[in-house]
Amino acid sequence: MDQGVIPTGTVAVIGGGWAGIACAVELADAGRPVTLFEAAKRLGGRARGVDWNGIRIDNGQHLMIGAYGATQALLHRLGTTHLLERRRLDFRLPGFRLALPNLPAPLHLAGGLLLARGLTLAQKWAAARFMRTLKARHFRLPEDIPAADLLRQQQQPAPLIARLWAPICIAALNTPLETASAQVFCNVLRDSLAGRRADSDLLFNRCDLSTLLAGASIKHPGIDFRLGEKIGRIEPRRNGFHLSGPQVEAGQVVLAVHPVRLPTLLAELPEMAAVADAVATFTWQPILTLWLHFVAPVVFPFPMLGLGEGQAPWAFERNDLAPGLVAIVMSAEGPHLRLPAAQLRDVTLALLARALGPLPALLDWKTITEKRATWSCVPGLPRPGNVTPMPGLFLAGDYTADFDTTNGYPATLEGAVRSGVKCAHLILSGQG
Ligand SMILES: Cc1cc2nc3c(=O)[nH]c(=O)nc-3n(C[C@H](O)[C@H](O)[C@H](O)COP(=O)(O)OP(=O)(O)OC[C@H]3O[C@@H](n4cnc5c(N)ncnc54)[C@H](O)[C@@H]3O)c2cc1C
Repeated sequence: MDQGVIPTGTVAVIGGGWAGIACAVELADAGRPVTLFEAAKRLGGRARGVDWNGIRIDNGQHLMIGAYGATQALLHRLGTTHLLERRRLDFRLPGFRLALPNLPAPLHLAGGLLLARGLTLAQKWAAARFMRTLKARHFRLPEDIPAADLLRQQQQPAPLIARLWAPICIAALNTPLETASAQVFCNVLRDSLAGRRADSDLLFNRCDLSTLLAGASIKHPGIDFRLGEKIGRIEPRRNGFHLSGPQVEAGQVVLAVHPVRLPTLLAELPEMAAVADAVATFTWQPILTLWLHFVAPVVFPFPMLGLGEGQAPWAFERNDLAPGLVAIVMSAEGPHLRLPAAQLRDVTLALLARALGPLPALLDWKTITEKRATWSCVPGLPRPGNVTPMPGLFLAGDYTADFDTTNGYPATLEGAVRSGVKCAHLILSGQG
């Protein structure tokens, strides 16, 4: 165990998820040395690689979009953007397809809606009217309400909600439409469908998520990675903080952990009680990923296919990890979580066969349920900022936000990376 003070001017980052790594890389590239403590043996946090029978899969299937500018910039610095496959948005569910053509915005959306399959002309017009109304209001709502209420107010037809708006909301916010924040839903629509054409592109990671991060970051100049080192408590000292566990002292600390860990870590810091109390009001949403390993590759018309409307699962072709691998994602809370795993597998295989035709024999399968995959993205959530009441102590993670609700992102890689980068800029500019 290391005892002592980390070198003067070094920032201690606690947590090697995407927020912590983004913060560390931003600081190190600006010349500020960083020591990063990660409790696990591998980087990535909630977006990491997991070993399974000699294959490295992801803890949960992830999807990125072209609007993830901060995430792409981070991966560019880490030298791994070539491991992303970029495809124009093609939203396919049984009986519905929205493919955006290669036209400049906003013609790509207008053209895509016009040619969409599985919507009547009136429903297409309703979708276009909804987007126009939001744009006219600069995607800012007078008050945050459930997304389902916003869609009702805007007279969106039920089939349009079931085929387009609900799947987008559940995929992006991981929160059912009835409880999801309409403001955050609007922020997502602004940055994706209403952004530049390339913003709505889909980015598929074509390697496991830890490789996407770790390949380069583990050797990143200026960052001392301490994997497998868990911080117990943060205690105040005259010139900074004591980190129990590795027993080190640091003048500046970035807490980049899952918000559920904050109350324990902050227990010795009464100044932080308001932050701990705020996150204690959060509730959590799960994500279940079913990994199917077939004896031969399954042919997909597009790497991502919806298996039904609303909250139905999405299937992803993952031959990049191993030939014949398919990931099925089931977002948010729902009855699927109460099914025995083998029954869930059989129901899903039937849905997949309905979409793709006869499937090769199944070699192996596995479910991974992340119970606290994301915080429930509900209206008016009290999200803390990066700067805390304690000078030298900062927060980074997908849950931080600033006072402007139109900046708020859901619990996503982009939200985490933006938070980490912003935290680094605050430290570099001498704030907090
Ligand atoms: C199954 C699943 C699917 C998802 N799908 C998508 C998707 O498709 N698209 C998308 O954009 N987002 C998706 N997300 C959300 C995304 O993964 C998260 O928003 C993001 O990874 C959060 O990153 P973070 O750095 O804020 O937190 P975390 O990933 O939680 O990182 C915190 C890190 O801190 C470490 N830590 C905790 N306590 C300590 C301690 N005491 N000492 C040292 N280290 C500690 C943890 O081990 C962890 O590595 C998904 C999440 C899950 C779980």
